[in-house]
Amino acid sequence: MPSDLVIVYHRQPYEEVEENGKIVFRENKSPNGIVPTLKSFFGSVDHGSWIAWKLADDPENPDFEQRVEINDAYGQYSVSRLPLSADQVREFYHVTSKEAFWPILHGFKERYNYDPVDWANFQAVNRRFAEAAAEEASEDALVWVHDYNLWLVPGYLRALRPDVRIAFFHHTPFPSADMFNLLPWRKEIARSLLACDDVGFHIPRYAANFVSVARSLFDVETTERQPVPDKWIAEGTALTERVLPNVIRYKGHDINVSVTPVGVDVGYIDKCARSEEAEANCAAIRQDLGDTKLILSVGRTDYTKGGTEQLSSFERLLENNPELRGNIRLMHVSVSANRNMAAYEEVQNEIEQTAGRVNGRFGTLDWQPVALISRAIPFTSLVSYYRAADVVWTTPLADGMNLVAKEYVASRIDGDGVLVLSEFAGAAVELGEAVIANPFSHRSMDRAILTALDMPEEERRRRMASLRDAVRGNDVRNWTPGSLKIKPTSTEVSAA
Ligand code: UDP
Repeated sequence: MPSDLVIVYHRQPYEEVEENGKIVFRENKSPNGIVPTLKSFFGSVDHGSWIAWKLADDPENPDFEQRVEINDAYGQYSVSRLPLSADQVREFYHVTSKEAFWPILHGFKERYNYDPVDWANFQAVNRRFAEAAAEEASEDALVWVHDYNLWLVPGYLRALRPDVRIAFFHHTPFPSADMFNLLPWRKEIARSLLACDDVGFHIPRYAANFVSVARSLFDVETTERQPVPDKWIAEGTALTERVLPNVIRYKGHDINVSVTPVGVDVGYIDKCARSEEAEANCAAIRQDLGDTKLILSVGRTDYTKGGTEQLSSFERLLENNPELRGNIRLMHVSVSANRNMAAYEEVQNEIEQTAGRVNGRFGTLDWQPVALISRAIPFTSLVSYYRAADVVWTTPLADGMNLVAKEYVASRIDGDGVLVLSEFAGAAVELGEAVIANPFSHRSMDRAILTALDMPEEERRRRMASLRDAVRGNDVRNWTPGSLKIKPTSTEVSAA
């Protein structure tokens, strides 16, 4: 059955587990990740499709069904599973995407590793995603492609299916031309993106950077810039971020440049935070803490997340403020997602060493300053910690959005708590009432955490009320494929 909505995202939209010798598809655990958010769009169409890869010993002759039909709470949809060998996955994902693209997207020029890239493999994998999408899409379908590891899909797809509407969303930051153009494949990538009808970003600055890249590489025309809605503008935002270039014309084709910051599922988080389980857990955590203040930091182990910088700031905090010793605690959750990659192992070692040093220098028989946790905490438990924490400290060096910041705010049903947020997280554009910190500056980091710990209750509540308005005002349900509409269902069409 042809699909009106084809979602192209490299991972499968469920966890595949074996139960009694049978493979079953189970919901992913995190409610806010990209997967459940994207699946919710299948509710708007009669039939949807999802394109992902799946590891195969022999990709020519895989020992699994390449296309499966799913019927779950999100609707009916099929999943095309492209068989890739371990080598193909390594080249396409771990090498090209994580060693070459990821550092450039986040502005880490010195970590950029171009030599090991097998570009022909990257092209071949992207072409297969495009071919699968072309096969699934109905006439005039919307094909929604996600993230930089599928950058070449729109170009291939446009050649195969000129009729479909193509949207592309970047979940990461998008760098300026100075940085992006370090990629030797810059023209091929940008040309592919310009084959879309809509290219989407979390915040205006990334969108403006994309326009600057297009201008630097091709003869494009852009329409007049439009003001960005006030609600997306944090106080003190530079003038250049207050405008949004919205259409690029390239070879007679118009590309909308959209800014659609993703939100969180506010209703679901509210329900989790009000549950009996969260209530009991939160009370137990607080009782355990006594008068000790809890600072919580949650993220993946990645050099972009600034874990080492944060732990060093915590060390200076204890060094310079002896009265805080014994009275505060940092729970640092740093989940290792990319095992077997040198860059990530190095960050993990740095984090472990820094946390160990702080505990060694300041810990006592009955007080350990840092609790370092490397395993993922289930979301429902995380909500209890969000509720119990005096401060959530999230200071990435670069981050497309940062959902942790929004989840924390949505969890604070008591209206209290302080958010310390990096100005380089996309979320800072909407969450201007957080205590904003620059993680590259010791002075800014150290001052921000002290300000948060010392903040009077009245100010905490005033800021949190405003943050909660911002998070509620941009629930995940407001998210769209930029300017493009998902086709209405046939029942809606016949009713109209
Ligand atoms: N998360 C979780 N358990 C953990 C750590 C993180 O469930 O122990 C979830 C967190 O709730 C959030 C996501 O992982 O939904 C991280 O999203 P974010 O945008 O902050 O960072 P990303 O990893 O996407 O860069």
